[in-house]
Amino acid sequence: MTKKVLVLPGDGIGPEIVEQAVRVLDAVNDTFSLGIEHESALVGGSAYDETGSPLPEATLAKAKAADAILLGAVGGPKWDGLDMAVRPEKGLLGLRSNLELFSNLRPAILYPQLADASSLKPEIVAGLDILIVRELTGGIYFGQPRGIRTLENGEREGFNTYVYSESEIRRIARSAFDAARQRGKRVCSIDKSNVLEVTVLWKEVMEEVAKEYPDVELTHMLVDNAAMQLVRAPKQFDVMVTGNMFGDILSDAAAMLTGSIGMLPSASLNAEGRGMYEPCHGSAPDIAGQGIANPLATILSVAMMLRYSLAAKSAADAIEAAVSKVLDQGLRTSDITSEGCTTVSTQAMGDAVLAALKA
Ligand code: NAD
Repeated sequence: MTKKVLVLPGDGIGPEIVEQAVRVLDAVNDTFSLGIEHESALVGGSAYDETGSPLPEATLAKAKAADAILLGAVGGPKWDGLDMAVRPEKGLLGLRSNLELFSNLRPAILYPQLADASSLKPEIVAGLDILIVRELTGGIYFGQPRGIRTLENGEREGFNTYVYSESEIRRIARSAFDAARQRGKRVCSIDKSNVLEVTVLWKEVMEEVAKEYPDVELTHMLVDNAAMQLVRAPKQFDVMVTGNMFGDILSDAAAMLTGSIGMLPSASLNAEGRGMYEPCHGSAPDIAGQGIANPLATILSVAMMLRYSLAAKSAADAIEAAVSKVLDQGLRTSDITSEGCTTVSTQAMGDAVLAALKA
């Protein structure tokens, strides 16, 4: 059966890195006979320039019809002065909300070859491979009521509501357990159940869902301890699942353990497993058009897309192995280069991954 992928290059370095990622997608599509068809559309600042909207109707319609979306990045100084409603980032947010992409998967992977890039000691992080599953559309970032009010005594008070329904917890739990089945089969649920009732319920529902996954181990950890463990002994984790706010903070900390943002892919999934795949980094306007951006995070996003939305695990494994091989060969784009390595362009890095795939 044909699978449809929508490619959204976006702005800045987006088109450069996506071009290499699509070459890799085409290569595995042929080798593994995956039956993938792809088409491109506009999003972000480039879409605004063409149509006056960062998320044109045509793009949204194609996104809804696709099995998966591959996105480069959006934004840049050219559009910083625009009204909030038409800023490039609105294109991304619009895709997330329209497609109900509630589950954000962010791996923190440190290839042993890049262990020196981390601010932690190489032996603590070399070979690190964690997946953080963050709930993306609920929790305290969306809870009502919220605001800043003035009390009778004239003092101002800020307030937010931390709320999760059982069904919201259940679907993110399933997302984490499903992902764990594709990896090390261990889920650590992060909560603050010693203080917050919301996370008492979170923990209970996690336990209930765990019964549907007898092959996956579930453990629990308080968020303050999780923050500590991430910098003390991060390799103890396989999949970490948590709410929107804790996930926001922990996933950035985990990403920075690797020290190389140009290497990190991400996924945002809906309940049917359809998703949007993109590098964790932005559109890097400072290096756009120079042909030096690192395409590996986008290429690794293709691997995630194959694994989580297109049921093509072998092709995903092949891409990840090819990236590792290229690093073994000492090839680096300028953001991850170090002494003794060969610094290559965006295009040459794409060529090297393709060659490693075919070898
Ligand atoms: P950024 O991630 O674009 O860049 C931060 C630094 O990392 C820059 O020095 C950049 O050159 C470098 N860098 C990033 N990706 C790289 C790559 N693949 N290869 C080599 N170097 C790379 O973050 P920023 O500078 O804060 O934001 C720039 C623009 O991107 C802004 O308009 C911002 O809103 C947007 N942004 C978009 C997304 C997204 O599309 N998901 C995410 C974050 C930021």
